[in-house]
Amino acid sequence: MGFDFGNLLNLLFPSKCPVCGNHSDSYLYSPICKNCWSGIERYTGPSCGICGTPTVSPHTTTCGNCLKSRPLFSKVLYYGIYDGILKEAIHLLKFNGVKRLSKPLGFLLSELPLPQANGIVSVPLHHSRLWKREFNQTASISRFLSKKLKIPLMPDVIRKIKDTPLQTDVTGKERFQNLKNAFSVSGNVSGLELLLVDDVITTGATVRECAKALKKAGAKSITVAALARSMPKQNT
Ligand SMILES: [Zn+2]
Ligand SMILES: [Zn+2]
Repeated sequence: MGFDFGNLLNLLFPSKCPVCGNHSDSYLYSPICKNCWSGIERYTGPSCGICGTPTVSPHTTTCGNCLKSRPLFSKVLYYGIYDGILKEAIHLLKFNGVKRLSKPLGFLLSELPLPQANGIVSVPLHHSRLWKREFNQTASISRFLSKKLKIPLMPDVIRKIKDTPLQTDVTGKERFQNLKNAFSVSGNVSGLELLLVDDVITTGATVRECAKALKKAGAKSITVAALARSMPKQNT
């Protein structure tokens, strides 16, 4: 770890809250201010009982995608919609290296009604991307969750063996194609009930493939826990 002058400056002169423009007033959430952080809302609207996709009607309990092809995880739980302050916070952690945010973000995850589990695994980054971004934000959130819930962390259980294009650069069907057999499981997960942690779920293709690999390796059940889910676009 090199000396980071930018970080030191941030400590001495706390930055402005990127949401409201006021000075950040809490080291825990900085640069986001306390007031804005408390505005992060939990999504409680209607959603698919399996993958969690927000649905238009509370009477739909399973979405079209899950009806067509049932995922191998039992359920996806997520805190909020990938928008507003939650999106800002995830961006700061993921792309701006504000690592301390993994703690309060991990705390949001711990507030979800997660089932008992034997272990926590996280969605991996491919090693070339890990190197570019320097650290895996999902792994750091998982580490926090593991301590908080006292569920053993199982690091590096899932590996990405195929370097796929950034998921944001492709759409819909392409995502599923790109990720086919992109993950492999190492380590013994046989008979285990697992929590699979991801930061943002977009189409669900990544967690579907990870769950497939874990099941193939003998996992008993997989529950997905994510910080946010993006609102599904029409016709994708
Ligand atoms: Zn603010
Ligand atoms: Zn669904």
